[in-house]
Amino acid sequence: MTEMPIPLAGVVGHPIAHSKSPQLHKHWLKSYRLPGDYIPMDVQEDDLEQVIRALPKAGFVGVNITIPHKIAILQMADLVTDRATLIGAANTLIFRRDGKIHADNTDGYGFIANLRAGAPGWRSDLGPAAILGAGGAARAVISALIEAGVTDILLSNRTRPKADALRAEFGSKVRVVDWVQAGNMLEEAATVVNTTSLGMTGAADFRVPLDGLRRGTIVTDLVYAPLRTRLLQEADEMGCVTVDGLGMLLHQAVPAFERWFGVRPEVDMRTRAAVLG
Ligand code: NAP
Repeated sequence: MTEMPIPLAGVVGHPIAHSKSPQLHKHWLKSYRLPGDYIPMDVQEDDLEQVIRALPKAGFVGVNITIPHKIAILQMADLVTDRATLIGAANTLIFRRDGKIHADNTDGYGFIANLRAGAPGWRSDLGPAAILGAGGAARAVISALIEAGVTDILLSNRTRPKADALRAEFGSKVRVVDWVQAGNMLEEAATVVNTTSLGMTGAADFRVPLDGLRRGTIVTDLVYAPLRTRLLQEADEMGCVTVDGLGMLLHQAVPAFERWFGVRPEVDMRTRAAVLG
């Protein structure tokens, strides 16, 4: 009788030491008493394809893909989900039994799941959503908001052509606002999302004026280091409902863990503690 191999998963990026995904997946494997392991892999761009093709033969059932490989990986996949195509990047690979590599993007799912968990009153018809930033994370957030039914998205980015490009791609539900006017668009917003790296430890300070925020506006920050960013602290003081970015990281991992290890994990306080610890 042949023994069942222990399923392996991991995260591929460069650099990789900062990734919180190993702590998260190892916590779930332990909590659900599942056989398996999750391994961080520092892989340079030139080696990416060779490494990815070898992993299924080494017992891997899939991997997460992180910076800087999220776009390049699409070329190596045999199947790409519609949402990964729409976002233009993948963060999750599933190595199928038939040898095919399936690429998905769960960032948008993680964003909405976190928003719904942290602000249970959130609905897609509450009013306009204001998005700060037009990088990779913004693409996932915009596509998830549109999929959830939001019909009015105000988008502002320091480099305006990047916001214009997203408007061209996602259509008339997106209205571009000049970066110098970013503070003004908050007055109209029912939901505010920071997708820039502003406010992150080691990055520039978040300086967008917040006096336009209204009591009850739902404000979420994708930055989770620090956990309580200046945006979230000030929004809290103004009576907004705030949702931190750590939950998005935890929720985006749920569908991948389920596909790889067969159990849909819970995101709870213990999960947060395991990752923060
Ligand atoms: P990215 O593609 O490099 O985009 C960075 C964004 O930040 C761009 O819009 C950029 O504007 C803006 N930005 C950077 N420095 C700025 C400055 N000094 N002034 C104004 N805008 C500035 O990065 P990303 O992948 O979208 O990630 C963005 C942030 O989201 C990161 O902090 C990342 O850690 C976080 N994130 C969190 C999660 C989560 O699960 N919570 C998931 C994904 C990403 P320009 O276009 O003008 O450069």
